[in-house]
Amino acid sequence: MDFIHNLLWHQDKFLGITWNAWKGIGFLGNGIFFSRFLVQWYATEKRKQVVVPQAFWWLSLVGSVITLTYAIFYLKDSVIILSAAFSWIPYIRSLIIHRRHKNAQTTCAGCGQKNPPQANYCPNCGGKLI
Ligand SMILES: [Zn+2]
Repeated sequence: MDFIHNLLWHQDKFLGITWNAWKGIGFLGNGIFFSRFLVQWYATEKRKQVVVPQAFWWLSLVGSVITLTYAIFYLKDSVIILSAAFSWIPYIRSLIIHRRHKNAQTTCAGCGQKNPPQANYCPNCGGKLI
């Protein structure tokens, strides 16, 4: 038991890390950012094709904004600040495009399936799309 305690706690550091609130925020941002890969991987495996779900862009945006906040107010490191300073632009752009595409889809009156904007007939039931 003492061995495990000493392995985790060393010189008042848990896992060798000096903890404070900002460290928690930094790890939270990193965790959210990392989770986007799991979401994207899951969606891809489920569909058996490479898919980038909307959640991927939300996790990217939230994770990078939290990481940027951590870098500006705690780390004060220009390299990390610069690497996170502009990444929100493509994330927001992708979310806008996602929304536009979703709104442009037509719903089949016959079966309720969502179809691409350019489709004239529903591939599911063959009904004409208006
Ligand atoms: Zn249909």
